[in-house]
Amino acid sequence: MFLRELTMSIDHIKGAGPASIHALARAGITGVAGLLCRYPRDWEDRSKTILLKDFNLSPVCTAVRVLAHDWFGFGNTKALKVYVEDESARAVLVCFNRSFMDKVLLVGNYYRLWGVFHYKFGELQSSTFEVEALQKKRDGEPGMGESSGSADPGKQSTFGRILPVYPLNTGLSQGMLRKFIQQALAQYAGPVEDELPRDIMIRYGLLPKSKALKAIHFPESLEELEKAKQTLIYEELFYLEVLVGRRAMERRAVTGSRGRGNEQAALRLSPLQQRLLERLPFSLTSGQEEAAAEINRDMERPYPMARLLQGDVGSGKTLVSFLAALRVAEQGGQAALMAPTELLARQHAENAARLLEPLGIRPAFLTGNIRAAGRSALLKSLAAGEIDLVVGTHALFSRDVAYNNLRLVVIDEQHRFGVVQRQAVMAKGDHPGLLMMSATPIPRTLALTVFGDMDVSVIRDLPPGRKPVRTHLARESNEAKVYDFVRNELAAGRQAYFVYPLIEADTNRGLKDAESMAVRLGESVFPDYPVAMIHSRLDEEEKRKTMEHFRKGDIRILAATSVVEVGVDVPNATCMVIEHAERFGLSALHQLRGRVGRGTDQSYCFLVYSDALTDEGKARLKVMLENADGFVIAEEDLKLRGPGHIAGTEQSGYFVLGIADPLRDASRLEQARSDAFSMLERDPSLSLPEHRCVAQVLNRAPPFGNIGL
Ligand code: ADP
Ligand code: MG
Repeated sequence: MFLRELTMSIDHIKGAGPASIHALARAGITGVAGLLCRYPRDWEDRSKTILLKDFNLSPVCTAVRVLAHDWFGFGNTKALKVYVEDESARAVLVCFNRSFMDKVLLVGNYYRLWGVFHYKFGELQSSTFEVEALQKKRDGEPGMGESSGSADPGKQSTFGRILPVYPLNTGLSQGMLRKFIQQALAQYAGPVEDELPRDIMIRYGLLPKSKALKAIHFPESLEELEKAKQTLIYEELFYLEVLVGRRAMERRAVTGSRGRGNEQAALRLSPLQQRLLERLPFSLTSGQEEAAAEINRDMERPYPMARLLQGDVGSGKTLVSFLAALRVAEQGGQAALMAPTELLARQHAENAARLLEPLGIRPAFLTGNIRAAGRSALLKSLAAGEIDLVVGTHALFSRDVAYNNLRLVVIDEQHRFGVVQRQAVMAKGDHPGLLMMSATPIPRTLALTVFGDMDVSVIRDLPPGRKPVRTHLARESNEAKVYDFVRNELAAGRQAYFVYPLIEADTNRGLKDAESMAVRLGESVFPDYPVAMIHSRLDEEEKRKTMEHFRKGDIRILAATSVVEVGVDVPNATCMVIEHAERFGLSALHQLRGRVGRGTDQSYCFLVYSDALTDEGKARLKVMLENADGFVIAEEDLKLRGPGHIAGTEQSGYFVLGIADPLRDASRLEQARSDAFSMLERDPSLSLPEHRCVAQVLNRAPPFGNIGL
């Protein structure tokens, strides 16, 4: 029997009553398999003695004698102090809200003690501890609460072994999970079959599945725990990579009337691509050239393209996607370019009209805000194939939109789309190529997992002539100096962004907001220059007009929220002032700073911070001050925040595997990948049963369903 086949409900477990079954169900645990897959988040080694004197090495695990009781405080705040000693030192157990402990910890008796200790008020103290009687209780004393031991023969001691610590939800307790999981293991784990191929288990010395399951919850030793972890981690990654590999094979198996496999043609730019480049006032950077060539090669292949184009803010990814669209149009196909905001989509549409229309390309702009007559006419021409490139928001893939011959889907700022239904997008054409663009660098290991089926191009260089943005930190109380500096830039004909964390005033939060500051900047700080405001709550028409005026230079100062974070491109703007900068994440700061430094003039970014700055805020601003490279900033971000927090991936569940973490387990991941791929190569029809934790990822976390997988 495989683990996933343990579908019987929790009430098959001895001792599980309705209340606990309900609490488990609320935490999403309904069957035995789910219970066994509730892996601990940590383990406490209570098998070894750690004396009180070693309290700063780890939690203490020792035997103590109770010396005395002492009460302190009054009324409701009255609390008990219990003085104890072991062979190395004396200490105090502080019992808040546990005044019954005076009946549990009896003076003169011996107990096992586990606890986290600190020095406080000259004493070695703990208020987080557990005890268990070592000696028989005296007659007539009630056996209460923590003094488990002999009182409840069914309950196992929490001492003398390695104890699992589970992630909890409301209604769940450690004791309950430990009890039920132990019981479930005893009833069901024995016959659980291995899911990994034998030769792989032997090669890496992995544990049999049933043993790994027991050991992950209740290991006999730390060595056994480590083996159990390695086994289960590898298993998940292997199954994941089999899925990735199979998807890759399926894509390559799609053939038809697409690329002609003409390597020669792939190496050359197509006639329209060439004409576009001739019309540009600059030439491609080598990164752009390479990416364009890789895409051309993809398009000559018989199977559809799936490529991720990474390039830092301002590296010119849009142009690369236009080149791809041109090639598609030349071959009689249609391309769709999707951007995460209407603002950005409109900017792309305007650029497409300016750059591509003169070449005979018929571009169009489609968002959810285009209604009635205009929309239906547009949809008609799209369906009739009278439009070659349509630019828009996710409205491009709403139900009533039909394409004549959709051959290329470009998703810009891919990380900004929480949930893109890849199926819905791809179903608009007959296996169209997919080009995803992102300025958020994704570490290689993650790219392997999530974009496992995608090829990756990276643009590492920026267009020449760009001067690095000069970044300055300024205290809020020094903002007048920043304003003076910006005034000089305005006098020299340039423009400025001011970015705030809030749209409107919120007196409770004591933060500046875009609305009030737009008024203040216009009336008192820069009365000689036109100021406008932009944020997500304005209607689209107003946003459009504001951006147009700003781009033309009729508006010189834009008071904004982070709506301007994505993609906005106004080369004459040389100042980016971010107020309450400590409130923004590193990737947002990097994106915002990327809005300036887009022309040939020297640009500046001011990070204005509140006088009360936390250490973490300080560290983040320092990263911005010292680094310009988005890849480095992303790595620093990762270090500051820990894995699982890569910009743009927090909510998206990239990391929701059972126990494996693609970042932490990077080398295992690559191993599992190569094992899985070579197995598929040997046996393309290889069919593995569905893996419980991996299947959950696919069902629960949409990005896997919509991106690589
Ligand atoms: P991103 O990669 O951040 O999307 P964009 O595509 O918005 O960058 O390009 C940023 C700016 O750089 C645009 O104004 C674009 O016209 C310009 N640009 C693109 N490629 C080049 C190049 N090779 N040389 C000079 N400027 C370029
Ligand atoms: Mg862009």
